[in-house]
Amino acid sequence: MEDRIAMMHDDPAVDLTVDGSAVGGMLAAAFGVEMTAAPGQCAHCHTVSVVGAMRVYMRGPGVVLRCPACAEVVLRIVQTPRGTMIDARGAAYLVIERG
Ligand SMILES: [Zn+2]
Repeated sequence: MEDRIAMMHDDPAVDLTVDGSAVGGMLAAAFGVEMTAAPGQCAHCHTVSVVGAMRVYMRGPGVVLRCPACAEVVLRIVQTPRGTMIDARGAAYLVIERG
């Protein structure tokens, strides 16, 4: 089982990967502003990249955005009956510009 997890980590499901702009509408609804041009810093490797450049994994109950540099998880977004849950523990920060 551990080998299988390691393989999945080494070989991310490329066919399920799209770029961050594909979830732009979902992010805009969640944050209330356009997010694809918003810079964020990866808490793992400290690379700053805009949300639209992050790797998006849409498998599973929610959406996962991973750092384009180190592939660690930066944001998790899950739609629940109560609302949109955002797990941002992988982001050191996100910059939401004034409209
Ligand atoms: Zn990173």
